[in-house]
Amino acid sequence: MICARCDELIRQGEDSRPVVHDRPTGPITTVYVHEKRCAPAPQQTYPARRFGA
Ligand SMILES: [Zn+2]
Repeated sequence: MICARCDELIRQGEDSRPVVHDRPTGPITTVYVHEKRCAPAPQQTYPARRFGA
């Protein structure tokens, strides 16, 4: 499975922790994150802009 925090693979035997997402709309989903503190993957909320044209 894939870690929801750092987007890296959680290998079998590696410690992971379930995180339940209980949303008012939509189904409850459970994702997993590394038990050890891992760095969040950088979020790309907007496409990279080019300068110049
Ligand atoms: Zn992780």
